[in-house]
Amino acid sequence: MNTEFEPCDVVVLGSLNVDLVVHAPRLPAPGETLIGTDFSTDEGGKGANQAVAARRMGARVAMIGRVGRDAHGQRLRDALQREGIGCAAVGEDSTRPTGVASIVVAQGGENSIVVVPGANHGLEPQHLTAWSLLLATARIVVMQLEIPLPSVTHALSLAHRAGVTTLLNAAPAAALSAQQLASVDWLVVNESEARSLLAQPVSDVTQARAAARALRTRGPRHVVVTLGAAGLVHASGEGVVHASAPTVPAVDTTGAGDTFVGALAACLAQGMPAVDALRWGQAAAALAATRRGAQSAMPTREQVLAQWSDLTPIQRVST
Ligand code: ADP
Repeated sequence: MNTEFEPCDVVVLGSLNVDLVVHAPRLPAPGETLIGTDFSTDEGGKGANQAVAARRMGARVAMIGRVGRDAHGQRLRDALQREGIGCAAVGEDSTRPTGVASIVVAQGGENSIVVVPGANHGLEPQHLTAWSLLLATARIVVMQLEIPLPSVTHALSLAHRAGVTTLLNAAPAAALSAQQLASVDWLVVNESEARSLLAQPVSDVTQARAAARALRTRGPRHVVVTLGAAGLVHASGEGVVHASAPTVPAVDTTGAGDTFVGALAACLAQGMPAVDALRWGQAAAALAATRRGAQSAMPTREQVLAQWSDLTPIQRVST
């Protein structure tokens, strides 16, 4: 278990939420009350999910984020600590509640979600000042867009100036300036995020190739457009490549994207070549898709290797 004053492999700056999941025969119409069949709560938020995915690959991980001074906040911090993720930089907001995602899942798998960001939206650039050394000494800093954009921008430029690799998962999509994108080493988006960043259709491999190429001209050294079961497209200085996803009996793809990002970051942090790190990300995400849930579905490095023993070994694994 690391302390925040040891350099980390992966520092994740992002959101922490409690997911409140209700199962019902169908989604309710406006004004309608339905009787549901199941209720569960789970730890979530893209930031926390990606931190857990990276940690399960064996990386030393620290999280920077914000929760409320409430039971949900305590629960999220405890869960990260149990994983061995440093969370001294997960601050408490005395005025806002911990973020929640209220999720209704219909029988066919269709869902509707309301996210109340709460304390996640209280994470301001000034809160990062105390953690600039943590950011500047990481091997990779991973961010998403569920916290205020000025904080992401601040961390991006701080890490970039320190020569630390940066990975931005631009989810949910938001307009990004050329200056912001110039500090991004790895930009990871899914089809709908690519579509909204570029205002052009992205729904097959050919369009994803064009999108990855176009996004790369905006600054990032690497662009990944993920395509669910159809795999991903990777644009880099070496060209644009489509990589199919492993074929698995998928039951729930919630958190597949977060598993991919976390595992990719853990592998890049230990210096693995891009092509091998991408394969690890895809393998971990595919395995996560065979299990229900988000964090609870994320595999360990050993579980991934048991399935795909030809993956490049992960060398440096912390305890
Ligand atoms: P998001 O969850 O962010 O929308 P995607 O659905 O594109 O992201 O999934 C991210 C990655 O997870 C994909 O590039 C792929 O490698 C893997 N993945 C997702 N769904 C499946 C699936 N059904 N089978 C195998 N791999 C999958």
